[in-house]
Amino acid sequence: MSLLDENKRLEQADKQYIWHPFTQMKEWIEDVPIIITEGKDCFIKDIYGKWYIDGVSSLWVNIFGHRKKELDDTLKAQVDKISHSTLLGLSNVPAIEYAEKLINLIQKLYSKDKSKNNLPDKKLLSKVFYSDNGSTSVEVALKMAFQYWQHKGAIEKTAFVSLKNAYHGDTIGAVSVGGIDIFHKTFEPLLFKTYKAPSPYCYRCELDLKYPSCNLSCASKLEEIFYKYSSNIAAFIIEPLVQAAGGMIVSPPGYLKAVYDLCKKYNILMIADEIATGFGRTGKMFACEHENVLPDIMCLSKGITGGYMPLAVTLSTEEIYDAFLGDFKDLKTFFHGHSYTGNPLACAIAIKVLDLFDKEKVLKNVIDNVEILELWLNEIEKFNHVGNVRNCGMMAGVELVRDKKTKEPYAWEEKMGWKVVLKAREKGVFLRPLGNVIVIMPPLTITGQNLRQMLKVISEAILDVCKD
Ligand SMILES: *Cc1c(COP(=O)(O)O)cnc(C)c1O
Repeated sequence: MSLLDENKRLEQADKQYIWHPFTQMKEWIEDVPIIITEGKDCFIKDIYGKWYIDGVSSLWVNIFGHRKKELDDTLKAQVDKISHSTLLGLSNVPAIEYAEKLINLIQKLYSKDKSKNNLPDKKLLSKVFYSDNGSTSVEVALKMAFQYWQHKGAIEKTAFVSLKNAYHGDTIGAVSVGGIDIFHKTFEPLLFKTYKAPSPYCYRCELDLKYPSCNLSCASKLEEIFYKYSSNIAAFIIEPLVQAAGGMIVSPPGYLKAVYDLCKKYNILMIADEIATGFGRTGKMFACEHENVLPDIMCLSKGITGGYMPLAVTLSTEEIYDAFLGDFKDLKTFFHGHSYTGNPLACAIAIKVLDLFDKEKVLKNVIDNVEILELWLNEIEKFNHVGNVRNCGMMAGVELVRDKKTKEPYAWEEKMGWKVVLKAREKGVFLRPLGNVIVIMPPLTITGQNLRQMLKVISEAILDVCKD
């Protein structure tokens, strides 16, 4: 078979056999799929040999680019030892070493500010519970928080609080605390009840206030819920600083710290979902560091293996962990676990990722890139159909609007985000929008030159598509 025939066959077979996530398959099968065969640094290559800049880090997971030699070598070396065993009744070397390394890192990051926090050691994150994807790490967090209060005798603390525009994953528990109607509404009859507080979305503030004079009224609304229902609330879950899938919504300075203080005040556990923000995306290793916030439970995935292997962790404080200790017959055990928990290949890579952060001064590169990004954001903010630009480190969103003055959005059926993204693809930049928001989230180690090239293409695509 000729190469061209083989490519056609693959396209046909994709349509015949694969049901793609978050995809209207009727549209997909009418189109020609881009099929990726190879990657190098911040680029991915399709079967026809066309290279694209990977503008969304292969869905927000990639940090060091593709085929990073150190990570490739680590994976190969671990394959020669063992690819998988289990953490149910056994342990394994990479899982132990990663847990130790991660907890030490987090405690070190926070020890700098420990005097300010003034927290006893029992309140520091100190245990690692492994799973294999972000949604699952959120399920673990929710069940952990729920069962913690059962063990503490506060059996009426069974409800959760989350934010509008929140995204915590696609499993049913994670959807229950989600706040994006377009994704979540259908499943409503299946979900457990959660209290929803306003999203800290300054550009479209539902309280209709003007930042900065608002004094964080969205946090005050959260306090109203806490005040009324705290005796029933197990935990508050939040994506710290950036509601990513909700449209790269960046919370105003002080918001995270304010809601953290409220959790303390009302005796409510705080779950930080750092699945998107973790591992350097915001310019610090974890977003919580920016406002010196120490959650009771933290979820990490996506960047954890630099985009190499599925892995997730749910971190808990010693205090939560301790509540589950007891005699076997007490049934205080945390009855939860997955087949691929603590997978040695994934853990070996995760260890190397932390080494590389150290060795390659990744966060320094982020600072340089953020400067380029922010200059560009300031430029395109002047475009007629760019309503709002926002970023936190290397997570950025450009919100397209029909009318800049009134902030009237484009109707979602118009798919303006998609149109811009398709245009950018023609010019060799792969992106995926969130509705009318163009998401910019390249690998953290992208060179300044490639970043500029990518941003230039996006400018051209926006100007091309959003005419009057
Ligand atoms: C992606 C994401 C999840 C879900 O992770 P999956 O690995 O896709 O299940 C949860 N929370 C946040 C903030 C995310 O960005």
